[in-house]
Amino acid sequence: MKVFINGKFYDAEEAKISVFDHGLLYGDGVFEGIRAYNGRVFKLKEHIDRLYYSAKAILLKIPMSPEEMRRAVLDACRENGFRDAYIRLVVTRGKGTLGLGPDRCENPQIIIIVGKIQLYPKEYYEKGLTIVTVPTVRNLHSAVNPAIKSLNYLNNILAKIEAQAAGVEEAVMLNAQGYVAECTGDNIFIVKDNRLLTPPLYAGALYGITRRVVMDLGREIGLEVAEVNLTRYDLYAADECFLTGTGAEIVPVTKIDLREVGEGRPGAVTQRLVESYRKLTAVSGDPIWPEASQADAG
Ligand code: PMP
Repeated sequence: MKVFINGKFYDAEEAKISVFDHGLLYGDGVFEGIRAYNGRVFKLKEHIDRLYYSAKAILLKIPMSPEEMRRAVLDACRENGFRDAYIRLVVTRGKGTLGLGPDRCENPQIIIIVGKIQLYPKEYYEKGLTIVTVPTVRNLHSAVNPAIKSLNYLNNILAKIEAQAAGVEEAVMLNAQGYVAECTGDNIFIVKDNRLLTPPLYAGALYGITRRVVMDLGREIGLEVAEVNLTRYDLYAADECFLTGTGAEIVPVTKIDLREVGEGRPGAVTQRLVESYRKLTAVSGDPIWPEASQADAG
């Protein structure tokens, strides 16, 4: 595996940054998780835009233009030779002193890792996931806004630990008002009476790129799609529930806090969305190799 750091490629064992980097010392930085399918990087522009907005929100100036970043991601995919991949794009504040001050940090570090990952086992997609609500609430948007995809994921990690302590894999995080925000690394949706509902961003959800695609796909198949505040009761009374994320894609949820969702198995709407999503990821995205674009033209 070759890892991109600031414009150069390194073998995985040689890919290193300073222990004084504030990304490590304070979680001061931003990141993206991106997927490549069949030789194309899915929604690359959207991920890069979100990266730059996250960086802007924390006053981190990325020393590269979005277009250069786009090309760097494609170069990193080519360098590693994968047609299907998970791409982790990270920008840290850079090497600084032991104090918090970002003004004392030198150069932001740009890291691109291209690897293979499967987030959940196959049975979760077939049987559905069991999830629980947990005590740790989602960060307030007046604190570290959950819209910022920062390197500081402790809020979500604590929720994940609580889910695992309850014997399940994933947690639903509520916000300080008790409304549903999202899961630890995925957005959440319910289907109720042919409506597709997901919490609004101000409830503490990340502006998920899969979330946005799924909302569009939902409209295409004739569902009414709305962003509304959801309570735990709404989850329990849902016909269907699923999570969305770049890594997980669309994963059905069949049990929440010991309550079966709908029939207790992945629902028909969820399955239709999974199929539409697969079709879309198989054919769209920025080509990693020129032949993919030529095949397209033909
Ligand atoms: N919420 C959180 C907290 C996340 O970290 C992610 C990304 N893994 C998502 C939602 C899903 O976002 P996307 O669809 O853009 O991957």
